[in-house]
Amino acid sequence: MGVVKAVVFKHNADVKPLLEMFNGMVNECMEYALRQGVNSPMKLERALYTEFKQKHGLATHYCISACRVACSALKSWRRLVKKGRADESKPPEFKAFVMRLQKELMRFKGDRIVVTVKPRQWVEIPLIIGSYQARFFEAWRKGELKLGEITLLEDKAIATFKKEVQEVAPKGYASIDVNLMSLDILKTDGKSLRCEKIDLKKLYGIRVHYFKKRRRIQKLSKCKPKTSKRLMEKYSKREKRRIDDILHKITANIVRELVKEGISPVFEKLKGLNYNATRNRHAKRKNRKVSSLPYWKIQRFIEYKMAWHGYKTHYVNAKNTSKTCPRCGSLSQAGGRVYKCNKCGYLADRHFVACVNILKMWGLGFTPKALNEFIEREELRMSINDYVT
Ligand SMILES: [Zn+2]
Repeated sequence: MGVVKAVVFKHNADVKPLLEMFNGMVNECMEYALRQGVNSPMKLERALYTEFKQKHGLATHYCISACRVACSALKSWRRLVKKGRADESKPPEFKAFVMRLQKELMRFKGDRIVVTVKPRQWVEIPLIIGSYQARFFEAWRKGELKLGEITLLEDKAIATFKKEVQEVAPKGYASIDVNLMSLDILKTDGKSLRCEKIDLKKLYGIRVHYFKKRRRIQKLSKCKPKTSKRLMEKYSKREKRRIDDILHKITANIVRELVKEGISPVFEKLKGLNYNATRNRHAKRKNRKVSSLPYWKIQRFIEYKMAWHGYKTHYVNAKNTSKTCPRCGSLSQAGGRVYKCNKCGYLADRHFVACVNILKMWGLGFTPKALNEFIEREELRMSINDYVT
């Protein structure tokens, strides 16, 4: 199977004028498409090509690219309007200073990118290469990796590398349950079980820290709106960077272990969680935390890192994984850290129960005896006193 990895290269080249021009083109395309009711990039391109060529003089591919970006932005906006999540009277605006460079527009030289601006006119963008980037650069030079598209931003270029890998038949599976404070992993080769808990308190701490910070900045917004806005952006970016950094480290460790043991990960499908969580008025406080933790990121990071080694990541339906009793299959609520079955009295760590259920949905069942032995060995036995109602 073919796998793709995006690698970020920083640069100091002044590409702002080019990106600004492209941004203007996209916005022109969107306006025209809305006014004339055009949906297809091909039609848009035919309508605007001559005008754009005269006005901007850029290479043909910029026009094609702008039309595509405009159409896909309008398409997703229309979809949101249909769902009632966007205002129909407020069409979208392309604010980003970003551009995709198709193969026809650039030449990747490893330490720099040469971008065609107009026919026979180029811009050179020297790239800053650290040890991480050098690894990909070397592999690309040797022909082990192929280069895909490059996305150009003001201060960085994101290059995608492609590689053909042989899909690996896994020796076992690991269900990974992502929680507010921990990542719970249950590994199995079909017979024996092993569990692991990875602490996410540090992530939670960061989130709380920046939440308090943002609240302080918000107070500024009345007397100093500009400063407040600037600070808000600065700290939001910093928070995202810090969290992503930690997530990359955590997921890289997990993936290293899984690959070493030859195990494929299984997750719950998290469709729409972030969206729903922020809009549930009854549990706003609790869900603010839930929605703020980028669960999907943990899953995606692991998925693409596993794919790079030839392993597939699997997803199962998330319904009732934390409520179903592993022994008798009836539904009960967990209280605090403890899962207690109302029918058969089964007691266990609730994250462990979720992990067992995820594996079960993936088609790996365990006998109550095996589960009990495992619980005893790992000291996951819960006391009824820990149960919170
Ligand atoms: Zn039960």
